[in-house]
Amino acid sequence: MNFASNRYQKIPYRHVGNSGLKLAPLSLGLWHNFGGKADLDNAREILKTAFDHGITHFDLANNYGPPPGSAEENFGKILHSDFKGYRDELIISTKAGYKMWEGPYGEWGSRKYLISSLDQSLKRMKLDYVDIFYHHRPDPNTPLEESMRALDHIVQSGKALYVGISNYGGERTRKAKAILDELGTPFIIHQPKYNMFVREPETDLFPVLREEGIGCIPFSPLQQGLLTNKYIDGIPEDSRIADPEGFLQENDLTQERLDKIVALNKIAEKRGQSLAQLALIWVLRDPVVTSALVGVSRKEQLLDNLAALDNMELSEEEEQQIEGILGA
Ligand code: NDP
Repeated sequence: MNFASNRYQKIPYRHVGNSGLKLAPLSLGLWHNFGGKADLDNAREILKTAFDHGITHFDLANNYGPPPGSAEENFGKILHSDFKGYRDELIISTKAGYKMWEGPYGEWGSRKYLISSLDQSLKRMKLDYVDIFYHHRPDPNTPLEESMRALDHIVQSGKALYVGISNYGGERTRKAKAILDELGTPFIIHQPKYNMFVREPETDLFPVLREEGIGCIPFSPLQQGLLTNKYIDGIPEDSRIADPEGFLQENDLTQERLDKIVALNKIAEKRGQSLAQLALIWVLRDPVVTSALVGVSRKEQLLDNLAALDNMELSEEEEQQIEGILGA
């Protein structure tokens, strides 16, 4: 497949923390819309649109589907058919932490699970290595040292270039960093949930990331689509809430949230932006955030999100208005 020859002229790349790796301000997640029941042509269109516009980073996990594993399989198919020859221009990540197979070794953070899971992911994607491997969630019942040593082993064995962690709080992140520094493991990135409705990382995690020079790639920056204008007049049939296998439920859309969405949408409209665009630049306003990790169900949404990068300046007044709405 041919891709736009000007794809690297469109957006500025940003260093991931203190590392040498750079990412575009937007990255694409394959949690939804790439699994066993997804339309592969649509999935291919989304990936092509992303890469054509300078998005180089595709984020997966062992369990993305449904069924679990099918997103990696489908991504592998598209990668080897449509992206042949482009592996060195791509940053591919996967993760392990949530339940993937039966028995005591199919989830959490043991050395046994993490190493086997990555081996399975590489087979599904038909890859020799991923660029970033994440521990997907903290495991309160496995010594942190064991999980971190497994990440180190994975890098040493050439199966990942960098490692990250996801859903870890600030204090545990600091401890993980100390262990990985001692081992000389390139721990460069953290993947927390962060958006206008979920702000805990601002006080708990971001100070640690700043001090330690770790990059940040917030997932669900649109709160799974709530922070767009799509639910203002009801629940569209083709939305994630309407999808019985989607992870967003109707009761996530409370009246209180809807009121905030309507008010935020007015600010976006005044700026000549969509609410999705405003929500993305809001997440990116703090330089600790390297890239916002969006999901899309069709390429038009991705194009809308990419256009956010044309106007990333938020005035102090706008920030205060947004604070007023979110704090209300
Ligand atoms: P978002 O918050 O970006 O939500 C994505 C959804 O928002 C889309 O599927 C679509 O919903 C809607 N949407 C996106 N753009 C627009 C637009 N411009 N206009 C209208 N609607 C839009 O992210 P996700 O929740 O999908 O998460 C993103 C990625 O983060 C995942 O794919 C995954 O890689 C990662 N992730 C990581 C987790 C972790 O624990 N580490 C957990 C969850 C996600 P619709 O389908 O209704 O059209």
